Amino acid sequence: RALVSADGEPEERLIEAALRPKNLDDFVGQKRVRRQLSLVLEASRMRGRSADHVLLSGPPGLGKTTLAMIIAAEMNAPLRISSGPAIQHAGDLAAILSSLTEGEVLFLDEIHRMSRPAEEMLYMAMEDFRVDIVVGKGAGATAIPLELPPFTLVGATTRAGLLPGPLRDRFGFTGHLEFYSVDELELVLRRSAGLLDLKLSGAGFSEIASRSRGTPRIANRLLRRVRDWALVHGVPQIDARAASAALEMYEVDVRGLDRLDRAVLQALIGKFNGGPVGLSTLAIAVGEEMETVETVAEPFLVREGLLGRTPRGRIAMPAAWDHLGVPRPEGMPA
Ligand code: ADP
Repeated sequence: RALVSADGEPEERLIEAALRPKNLDDFVGQKRVRRQLSLVLEASRMRGRSADHVLLSGPPGLGKTTLAMIIAAEMNAPLRISSGPAIQHAGDLAAILSSLTEGEVLFLDEIHRMSRPAEEMLYMAMEDFRVDIVVGKGAGATAIPLELPPFTLVGATTRAGLLPGPLRDRFGFTGHLEFYSVDELELVLRRSAGLLDLKLSGAGFSEIASRSRGTPRIANRLLRRVRDWALVHGVPQIDARAASAALEMYEVDVRGLDRLDRAVLQALIGKFNGGPVGLSTLAIAVGEEMETVETVAEPFLVREGLLGRTPRGRIAMPAAWDHLGVPRPEGMPA
């Protein structure tokens, strides 16, 4: 088995692929989405038709790509993967669409980042399985209609609200993925540990799960780092102490906040007195893009009760002061 490829960290990538659940039954959590999706797929199979287009939204690492792969597998269909940022011209999309085979599943990650002309081409493709290929320029330009075989589009976005209405409306089913509970993350970790042949105590699993930011991708990544730590330290079975010692090294704190999460809270409290402060100002203060702060850091901080969104801007919640170990301002309610 070749472990070496040109794009670096090949072993990591192979492991990530190996840990992906291959069917809906192995997919942990997200019960509601799983049940709804399973019905959509079952009905299309009974009708002998390709499934309706599916939109998946939620923060990174919650299983959108995995679900797209499962949809293709359950429909016994080939899968094509591309992403919004890779489609900058309508022609890029036309090339993909015109090479699809009947029933194929097309996964478009970060679909909200497609260019406008490509987006408009996609509307027609989704609705009528047809595109107009424009040949030539200016007054001499002609549109050549091209029929497409029926296909299933699976779009993924970090926030459904980032999508223009007309695009959102063309999906037959929208699934919102939620952060996972610690118990669910433990299940993800147990499954992964089994596949990697790793031994952990129950407390070892919960230590990693509770620091995983509600995110399976992070859980699996932390498990691999703990695995490295255990290997180097010659620890055969990983308990809570080994897990926490390993994770301290990677700047993952007890609540699972990573460096960006903490930077956001530190800026809010240290520079803006707890806010309210506008998103763009906050993003500049932490040196990140607005979209990253909004779709990666914020959803988790809001869920943890550390950050609030108000009409006047972002505020630090009382728990944020406690978490950073900074005394709360006087008069702040408990
Ligand atoms: P996204 O596309 O939302 O960023 P992915 O589908 O790539 O996330 O998932 C990231 C990793 O997390 C995958 O490699 C997979 O192993 C794991 N994972 C995601 N969701 C689940 C789940 N529900 N059950 C088990 N593992 C999961």
